[in-house]
Amino acid sequence: MPTFLLTNDDGYFSEGIRALREELRNLGRVITVAPDRNLSGVGHSLTFTQPLRIRRVEEDFWTVIGGTPADCVHFGYYLFLEGRKPDLLCSGINEGPNLGEDITYSGTVSGAMEGRILGIPSVAFSAFGREEIDFVEMAKVAREVVLKVLEGGMPEDTYLNVNIPNLRKEEIKGFLLTRQGRRAYKEKVLRLNDPAGRPLYWITAEEFGWHLEEGTDYWAVYQGFVSITPLQLDLTNHRAIERLKGIF
Ligand code: MN
Repeated sequence: MPTFLLTNDDGYFSEGIRALREELRNLGRVITVAPDRNLSGVGHSLTFTQPLRIRRVEEDFWTVIGGTPADCVHFGYYLFLEGRKPDLLCSGINEGPNLGEDITYSGTVSGAMEGRILGIPSVAFSAFGREEIDFVEMAKVAREVVLKVLEGGMPEDTYLNVNIPNLRKEEIKGFLLTRQGRRAYKEKVLRLNDPAGRPLYWITAEEFGWHLEEGTDYWAVYQGFVSITPLQLDLTNHRAIERLKGIF
């Protein structure tokens, strides 16, 4: 029976993590450790300047007060699994997609990244859709990905970024291996005023769009496929080394 470590960045109360937990519990033991609040966009940050408290939600289910997804993976692995590697780490299902450059902000993807750093095969799941997401249906698709990974294994140093279209399982066209795409908008800063008339600033992303390049994550989900992008920890631009040798 496989053991899973489960986290997310939307918080332990989110529908996405509950639905995925239910599916994983049919396959094996699930240790769930998730933030106590919505930390979408927190990226890969780890809390090491202060201690944290952990509360038990249910059996094998904890929440870290003020903890990030990377903190949760740490506690799951070192405290609750006592350093024994689970068969798979799952992060999500995130409410909203994680595509293109957005994955660098993503707490969901960072949860999987942290798992990979600890040597655990890891998968991040996100929902391509913003409204009326059917997480129960989506978790069934996630379960298929999990079964494939458990059976087929994962290449060394790889973690997966999976985005699932918000469609019924029968309507999904299949799985597609993709590369990271590119976002077609710039973040805007909105200026507001507080009740005393002092300025407040809000980072928004209203002009939502993507480059529709064939083979990318966005291209795949846009067409109704489940996008599976293999990611790696090595961020080196290997091609640039030769070119930079002329300068340094
Ligand atoms: Mn999120």
